[in-house]
Amino acid sequence: MESPKPAKPYAKPSGKRRGLLLVYTGEGKGKSTAAFGLALRAHGRGLKVRIFQFIKHQGARFGEHRALSQLGIPLEGLGDGFTWRSRDLNRSARMAQEGWERAKSTLLSGDWDLVVLDEATYPLRYGWIDLSEFLEVLRSRPAHVHVVVTGRGAPEALLELADTVTEMRKVKHAFEQGVPAQKGIEH
Ligand code: ATP
Ligand code: MG
Repeated sequence: MESPKPAKPYAKPSGKRRGLLLVYTGEGKGKSTAAFGLALRAHGRGLKVRIFQFIKHQGARFGEHRALSQLGIPLEGLGDGFTWRSRDLNRSARMAQEGWERAKSTLLSGDWDLVVLDEATYPLRYGWIDLSEFLEVLRSRPAHVHVVVTGRGAPEALLELADTVTEMRKVKHAFEQGVPAQKGIEH
């Protein structure tokens, strides 16, 4: 029996390899962990990897922070850990802007092969980081630099600019069955 043809056949590789913009978005679990998985893969191939987290605070010691620091992959928390629950939204906004300045110079320096901007969609949605500036920096980064952006509700213009977009769809989540967040699975 003939196997069904894919609706949209993949393009035959014809272009050159280059730095990619990958976006992991959607409501399902797995966006940040997919980014860390890619960081692990890239590190294993000798790529220089650096991770920025826009929501987590600098002192966070989740499982990924422990493992990545053992591997010598720098991970920086740029937020105060609270965002919309924060008592001081001006402070959160200021921290996001300062963090973005650091991430921006890292992206533009070309010294890092893979830069992860974890949960960057939130400061973009709140207007703490200007979307058009964010996109401009991504467009003008050195050609070899891979970038991963994670977070729910990625802006349409970011999806358009991206090379690879994956939407995590929630089918089920243990939280809905009353299971609280667990060490090693959620943090
Ligand atoms: P992970 O860090 O596990 O890859 P994520 O990055 O896709 O998750 P976020 O939207 O950043 O998810 O949310 C972070 C936390 O919320 C994680 O602890 C995750 O388990 C939990 N979470 C993710 N999706 C859901 C959901 N649909 N319902 C409840 N909790 C969720
Ligand atoms: Mg996440």
